[in-house]
Amino acid sequence: MRCTQNRRIVMINQKHSFNRSLYAILALIIFAFSCGQQGGSLVKNLDELNAAVAAAQPGTTITMANGVWENVEIVFIGKGTKESPITLTAETPGEVIISGQSNLQFSGEYLVVSNLVFKNGYTPTSDVINFRTGNNLANNSRLTNCVIDNFSNPERFDSDTWVMVHGKNNVVDHNSFVGKGNQGVTLAIRMDTLASQENGHIIEYNYFGPRQVLGSNGGETVRIGTSHYSRSYSNSIVRSNYFDRANGEHEIISNKSCGNQFIGNVFFECQGTLTMRHGHHTLVENNYFIGNGKQSTGGIRIINEYQTVRKNYLFGLTGHRFRGALVIMNGVPNSPINRYNQVVDSEMNNNLVIDSDYIQFCAGSDKERSAVPVGSAFKNNAILTKTNLDPFTVYDDISGITMEGNLVSDNAKVPIATGFEKVAYDVTKNAEGLWVPNDKLLEKIGFGKVALPVAKNQTGASYYSKDDLVKPFGSGVEIKVASGTNTLLKALNASKPGDVLMLENGGKYLMTKYAMIKHPITIKTNDGAKAMIQSEKQNFFQIENGGALQLQNILIDGAESPDQAGNSVISTSKYSMNKNYALVVENCEVRDLDKNYAFDFLKSYKHTFADSINIINTTMTNITGSIMNLDQEMEDLGIYNVENVNIKGSTFTDVQGAITNVYRGGTDESTFGPIMTISDVVINNSGKGSRNKIGAVLRFHGVQKLDVSNVKINGSAGIDLYQTNGDPISVLKNIELKDSGKIISNSNTYSQENISIIK
Ligand code: CA
Repeated sequence: MRCTQNRRIVMINQKHSFNRSLYAILALIIFAFSCGQQGGSLVKNLDELNAAVAAAQPGTTITMANGVWENVEIVFIGKGTKESPITLTAETPGEVIISGQSNLQFSGEYLVVSNLVFKNGYTPTSDVINFRTGNNLANNSRLTNCVIDNFSNPERFDSDTWVMVHGKNNVVDHNSFVGKGNQGVTLAIRMDTLASQENGHIIEYNYFGPRQVLGSNGGETVRIGTSHYSRSYSNSIVRSNYFDRANGEHEIISNKSCGNQFIGNVFFECQGTLTMRHGHHTLVENNYFIGNGKQSTGGIRIINEYQTVRKNYLFGLTGHRFRGALVIMNGVPNSPINRYNQVVDSEMNNNLVIDSDYIQFCAGSDKERSAVPVGSAFKNNAILTKTNLDPFTVYDDISGITMEGNLVSDNAKVPIATGFEKVAYDVTKNAEGLWVPNDKLLEKIGFGKVALPVAKNQTGASYYSKDDLVKPFGSGVEIKVASGTNTLLKALNASKPGDVLMLENGGKYLMTKYAMIKHPITIKTNDGAKAMIQSEKQNFFQIENGGALQLQNILIDGAESPDQAGNSVISTSKYSMNKNYALVVENCEVRDLDKNYAFDFLKSYKHTFADSINIINTTMTNITGSIMNLDQEMEDLGIYNVENVNIKGSTFTDVQGAITNVYRGGTDESTFGPIMTISDVVINNSGKGSRNKIGAVLRFHGVQKLDVSNVKINGSAGIDLYQTNGDPISVLKNIELKDSGKIISNSNTYSQENISIIK
């Protein structure tokens, strides 16, 4: 009947033009064919879809009409057979867009879901695609050639899962999952009933595209199991997937069940690791971790029993501690199921590690994690490096790890005398662009040939672009903006992502309305006299979700700001942002933020997150508030507001509040940041205002990597360095505190060199 209806529509269309009629005849033939062959139906709305689902028989194909399906919760229940599955698909792959508050759940046997795109919305429930309806599971089913792109809840910490796999023998292949911005796993395999255990799922040829740093636990890209069921078997296979800058948090993959295999995946510039967090009998083989020296890129971490890690390629990984290239952890004696099982009878052999900075044995050793690895091996690995020449760290007794036949480049230190042979650092780039040692060495460690196990273009939905959507600063066009009132606002509102707004040398720009920064934008003056920007509103620039701001060679002046407390030059959105922002202030002058009290330079709000804040060669003078308050996550859940802060070559004078107030509380160990570098900075008469409640001019609370060097602090408050767990690295070097406060720290584990305190 639906076939007839469709035919009528096609016939009407046919009258319009000859071309169209040809098209229509073709469509008719195809349609008649599909109706005749499979009992298929083209459905144009949810009612039709539901009716088609209810009527579906083995072999039925339910085809969703092209177009935008807004606010649809699709329930697909059916019983196909191996030979004749029931399929839910798109009229044209990629042209069925599911948007708004939408999701899809399915259950039954031999179902196929294909060719659908989820974007411009988010799920109203806890999952976007779920292999379950109520208590009924999907088995022997397949999700293929689908896309979930930026389908993120606008509330950053309203957690959901994009693909939740239940049941048994399901396949997830050739899908693109890109840009998850809120908390929650991208793809999870659940095992919470017997019917979902020993499931044998296959996850293959998927493109796990860029995922921003979450700044909290709960940003895993793939998770198999949960701690509660971690001693049960999943027997899943994750193979031939491409993880492209899948950052999130430090577990790109969180393995939490037994019997899983991770084979032939590529991890390209991913900040994080493949972690065997729980579960035994895991195989990790022939995976390529390509860090290219990017920050916080990691490799493989062993916890638990009977784990096999072999023939993996690890290049240019910089992550330290738990995020090293190769890590074997200490465990907790008789560990509770949610803590750290001792490493037993596990091996890490035949791996090739090039220019990767950290290999760690007995990592995490402390009072609780005192059970050292036993019956384990580290054999025939090659570690060739010219980046960190002291790559091994031994935290505890490694006698339970047999070290044998390892090759280490002759410039690098080895952890123990036996089991490591020195070889030349002889590495060249092959035709594929991978760095490789000579064949003899590869043969000696039993690695085989160096070749990417899967190419990026072999993965993901065939019709969907893998181009980056986020435009970097300066990638657009240059737009000249004349001096005057609201000329800058007008130009800003007309701008496109990546554009450069070029102001006049010495020009004066007054804004009488808020400047909303909705995409990456650069505002600059050429070398020479800086253009001056003033605002009559409570903040000059408000970085909205998706926004990023670069200011170059600009003078910011507070003289026209309202006489109200709590002004700021830059503010984040007042609401949760599910897209990270960036801020660059370079060669700028900021002065007289003194209209009323607590006039900040940067004000951040809860559940906002900066990938980076850079203040370079800038002077800031006469400010009644703080330069940056990034301390909005006070619940101590390990959530924080910024990943990277870099302040360089800058001078701050007469700032009543703090220059930096950065806070990451809690004891969570699943993130890398905040990471801060402060160098060649002068601070005068600052941090002493009565409203500066933190009592310091530089506050670093829970910063994971801190480097403060060549800093002169005159007549100011001191430094508050509060180190939380996670082995933070804090280095203070060449610091002069003259007539100022002291360095106050809760711990003496930071490194200090040449600190002078002058009274
Ligand atoms: Ca985690």
